[in-house]
Amino acid sequence: MKTVYDGKEHCCGCTACENSCPTGAISMSPDWEGFLYPVIDPFRCIDCGVCRNVCPFEHADRVKYGPFQKSFLAQHREENVLMQSTSGGAFTALSDCILTQGGVIYGADFDGEWHVVHRRAQTDAQRDRMRISKYAQSDLRGVFQQVEQDLSVGRMVLFTGTPCQCAGLRSFMEGKDTSRLYLCDIICYGIPSPMIWQSFCRMIEQERGGQVSQVQFRSKAYDWSRENSNKVFLMATTEDPVLRLDDRYYQLFFKVRSVIRPSCGSCPFTDRSRPGDLTIADYWGVEKYLPQYNDPRGMSLILVNSSKGEQLLEWAQDAMFYLLRPASECMAEQARLREPVQLPANRREFWEYFDAHGLAAALEKFAGHQA
Ligand SMILES: Cc1cc2nc3c(=O)[nH]c(=O)nc-3n(C[C@H](O)[C@H](O)[C@H](O)COP(=O)(O)OP(=O)(O)OC[C@H]3O[C@@H](n4cnc5c(N)ncnc54)[C@H](O)[C@@H]3O)c2cc1C
Repeated sequence: MKTVYDGKEHCCGCTACENSCPTGAISMSPDWEGFLYPVIDPFRCIDCGVCRNVCPFEHADRVKYGPFQKSFLAQHREENVLMQSTSGGAFTALSDCILTQGGVIYGADFDGEWHVVHRRAQTDAQRDRMRISKYAQSDLRGVFQQVEQDLSVGRMVLFTGTPCQCAGLRSFMEGKDTSRLYLCDIICYGIPSPMIWQSFCRMIEQERGGQVSQVQFRSKAYDWSRENSNKVFLMATTEDPVLRLDDRYYQLFFKVRSVIRPSCGSCPFTDRSRPGDLTIADYWGVEKYLPQYNDPRGMSLILVNSSKGEQLLEWAQDAMFYLLRPASECMAEQARLREPVQLPANRREFWEYFDAHGLAAALEKFAGHQA
C-alpha cells in the first residue's frame, strides 16, 4: 500500500500533503487512536512525489526560522481579556492587530459537539472563541486552502496553531506569495487524541447526566501558576450545570501521556528554531526571575523569530505591555524548547486496554482513578 509517511511517528497530521496533491488522491482519515493520517487512493495517485516533498516533518529545517531573536514577558492591558485567556492574553493582542487592518484569523475553536476544529474569524466574537488552550488535536481539514484563498485576494492572515500546524502551512505555501501571512505557533507540550477527548466527554455525561455544556481547560477560576495548571480543568453538563473541577483529563495528558500523538515523541519543532513568526506560551518561572510581575491573572512568553514577527509585536504595543528578557529564562523553563515529550514505553498497552474496556477502566488502571 502507498503511504505518505514511514511510520506514524513521522506524521503529525498537518494536512499539507492532502492540500498539495495535484489529483486529490489524499484524504485524512482517523486511525484507531482517533488521530488523522493521510490515506492515498491508489487509483488517483500518479506517483509525482509532491506529498512526500511537502511534508514538514521530513523537511523541518526548510520550514523553520533560525534560532529565535528575542524573548519577551508580556501581558494584555485589559483585565477581562486576561481572565478569558490561558496565559497573558498575547493571542488577543496580536490577533486584534490583524482584525483592525481588515485581516482574518485562523485558530482552534470547539464545534457544537466539543470537537476541536480550526476555524476562520473575521470578527472579535469569532476570534474570542479561539481563546483558551484546547487540549486535543484540532481538525485542520480544508483550512490551508481557505488561507490560500484569503491571501490570493489580498487579505492579511494570522494563522495560530501548534508548531507542526504552522510548519505544515508554511510548507504548503512554499513558492507562493506569503507577504501578508503571519504565523504564530504555541509552545506545545504534545497533542492529545481527539478520540480520547470525546470519550472523556461521554464519560462525564454518563456520570453527571445530560450533555457537556461548558468546558474550561486552564480556567482562571484559580490563580494562574505552574502548580495550578494541573487543577484547572473544569466541566459542566446540562443536568449538572455547576462547573466542577476534574483532574482526570489532565492526568491522562501529563501523567499517562499515552494519549499523545506518536509523532510528538520525535517532534522536530521542539527547539529554539521556530516555524512561526512569533511563538507564544506561558511565562513559567516569572516568580523566580521577576517576582514583581508574578500576576495570578497570567503572563505570556513571546518569542520573536522573524522581522514579520517583530512588526506584529510592535503593532500590538498599545494593547499589550512587554519586556525584553534573556533567552536563558525560557530555555530553562520550557522543556519543549529543548526536547520532544517522552512517550511511555507501555503506550500500546494503554490503547489496547482502552479499546477493550473503555476510558473509565483505563483511567483506573493507568492513572489510579477509581471508576
Ligand atoms: C496542546 C497544547 C499544549 C501546550 N503546551 C504548552 C507548553 O508546554 N508550555 C507553555 O508555556 N504553553 C503551552 N501551551 C500554550 C499555552 O497554553 C497558551 O495557549 C498560550 O500561551 C497562549 O495563551 P494566550 O493567553 O496568549 O492565548 P489564548 O487566548 O488562551 O489563545 C489560545 C491560542 O492557542 C491556540 N490553540 C488553542 N488550542 C489549540 C489546539 N488544540 N491546537 C492548536 N492551537 C490551539 C488558539 O488558536 C489561540 O491562538 C500549550 C497549548 C496547547 C493547546
